[in-house]
Amino acid sequence: MHEASIKRSLFISDNLVLFLILGNFKYAIQKDSPVKFKIDEAKPFKLFPCCVSVRGFSRSVIYDLNRSEFCYIPNDLHDLLDRFDGESVRSIKSCLGVHAGARIDEYIRFLVKHEYVWFDDSLDELKRMPPIDTNFSTPAEISNAIFQIENTPNVEIKKMVKDLSMLGCRDILIVFYSKPKLALIKEVLNQFENSSFKSIELLIRFDERLKESELHELVNQYRRIRKLVIYGSPKLRKARDFAFGMNGIVFIPRIITHSLYSSIANTTSFRVNIDFFSEAKNYNPYVNKKVVIDISGNLKNAPNMDEEHGNFNLKPISEVISDDRFRNLWNIKKDEIAVCKDCEYRYMCLDNRIPVKKDGEWQHDTPCLYDVYSGKWAQK
Ligand code: SF4
Repeated sequence: MHEASIKRSLFISDNLVLFLILGNFKYAIQKDSPVKFKIDEAKPFKLFPCCVSVRGFSRSVIYDLNRSEFCYIPNDLHDLLDRFDGESVRSIKSCLGVHAGARIDEYIRFLVKHEYVWFDDSLDELKRMPPIDTNFSTPAEISNAIFQIENTPNVEIKKMVKDLSMLGCRDILIVFYSKPKLALIKEVLNQFENSSFKSIELLIRFDERLKESELHELVNQYRRIRKLVIYGSPKLRKARDFAFGMNGIVFIPRIITHSLYSSIANTTSFRVNIDFFSEAKNYNPYVNKKVVIDISGNLKNAPNMDEEHGNFNLKPISEVISDDRFRNLWNIKKDEIAVCKDCEYRYMCLDNRIPVKKDGEWQHDTPCLYDVYSGKWAQK
């Protein structure tokens, strides 16, 4: 393995530890500080396969899919990478002319400093590192489910767990809208014991009668709980740290409604990783392979959609999800939606707006708070 590749893989290991400690840590580099090193202009260079440049209307972004980071770059650097990836600095300079020399040097220094590229003796050597596979496939028919409970569950949970398990679902979010008693929470969680579910996230309405010690006990007893969020709390605070991304307890002041998610207001909720990137390249990650069982047992694509596709108590989930009307939106990726298709964030953004087709084009009824054409966020 080439020295630069080894360095990157070592760095990845260190960063993974940091990632586990800090959670979904990412930052954006806007300006680069000068850095000095000798570049052999005769050697060809290449972007590391895990670093993907995505062009937007006003700027581009390098997605560092291994480090879960992203970095803004100007569109002309994106175009340069697109055109000259695998060539030497010398051949770029001879192609673009002497007047572009200083700018090319600056760009190459930036790319080397952030370990986005590596140099090797020949193009054949560079080609030995294959591009990442961005096809998205999972054997699961349903990858994530949301189960909403008002006062008491309106479906037979044991059957729901069995049906979802059969469809390959391993992750579920359970939302309690009233103030549930501890016994009810346990009764629901008990149904997931001995199931093939991997993780459970809980959203529970704040109730001072539910003691914090009981919440800790809950997380200790049910090891599938990945995250327990108490919403509508007087204060934002973390009651229990996440150990390896699991078992955390957080209190948030926000009130969770039946539509569940609020619109994107900044980059903090963005996900930079190979799974999300590949899914967003091929599908709409907000609805693809997701199912919601609402408070009445109705089956829906998403919590903020009115359209129901049958009721769990009357129709098997497998029948509902195999209907084209249920799957229709799965394939509407950001690349096909007006405005989003011009956005540099389109493969990291989990947008909860539902696209609609108007005048032969997929679009959204409400604008995004990010203005793709100026590169600025509106204040909420
Ligand atoms: S919703 Fe669309 S326009 Fe807004 S940040 Fe996401 S991809 Fe960009």
